[in-house]
Amino acid sequence: MEGKLFNIQKFSIHDGPGIRTTVFFKGCNLRCRWCHNPESIHKSNQIEFYPERCIGCGACYQVCTAGVHFQNVSGEHQLNRLKCTGCLRCTETCYSKALVGVGLNVDSSYLLNTIVEDKLYYDNSSGGVTFSGGEAMLQIDFLEEIITLCKNKGIHTAVDTAGCVPWSYFERILKVTDLFLYDIKAADSIRHKQLTGVKNQLILDNLCKLSDAGQKIIVRIPFIPGQNEDQIEEIGNMLRNLRIVKVEVMPYHKLGSSKYKALGLSYELYHTQTPTEETVDKAITILKNCGLNACKT
Ligand code: SF4
Ligand code: SF4
Repeated sequence: MEGKLFNIQKFSIHDGPGIRTTVFFKGCNLRCRWCHNPESIHKSNQIEFYPERCIGCGACYQVCTAGVHFQNVSGEHQLNRLKCTGCLRCTETCYSKALVGVGLNVDSSYLLNTIVEDKLYYDNSSGGVTFSGGEAMLQIDFLEEIITLCKNKGIHTAVDTAGCVPWSYFERILKVTDLFLYDIKAADSIRHKQLTGVKNQLILDNLCKLSDAGQKIIVRIPFIPGQNEDQIEEIGNMLRNLRIVKVEVMPYHKLGSSKYKALGLSYELYHTQTPTEETVDKAITILKNCGLNACKT
């Protein structure tokens, strides 16, 4: 079976315990305003353009039969992305890396071999593999196949999810998933919709079902100034009766902002600052006061 990814990151230490390989699936059904992986949102191939690296060789103009690349009246290299078919030919032609392709079709045997290469590191660090995204659960057929293959090889498996998928998808991978990294963005459903484009009822229902099923769960809360700071206590109260191993607060950062420009997208939170240590500590204290094992990522 074949899946659509946008990255395979080895030696990852932020997506579950130990040293891990994180597999990033392409495609997501949420539109979080702060998303730091904007290349994960659309399932189809995309191109990133970094004009400061362009040497003006013209190779991309020649190879692109769709007519995406053109010069404006000032002679600047521009892209008409609406015409792009995602063939990625221009990115293969651009030796200066001004054009970078985003999108990777991989079959499960290739991906398994890539993951297994680092099994020694997983075994020596209590690590493993994490399937992330985008939303890995949206490619449930492929996810079920690859996670089962990994489990059969004795590799610790984690799924990082926003949880906005039918419960039947979870049921298909419960037995082969050692850990769920479950993102919660807001407790209030209307606020959740403002921040992510969807209400949170399905997400919360699935979280309760995972807890009832005895699954190991780490909840992760993106902590975004001006967006969801006031939701922390309500989230804590909601989680206090569930079986949650740990709650991780993920402070907002701007690392993804340059990717928006490269993808031709606008970035809504351009003026948002990273939260201070003090406000993050305060959020952690609120969660601890709800009886949760809370920390910063
Ligand atoms: S192939 Fe790359 S370096 Fe050459 S014109 Fe196109 S973007 Fe610029
Ligand atoms: S990905 Fe294909 S269609 Fe899109 S700009 Fe490059 S060559 Fe043209």
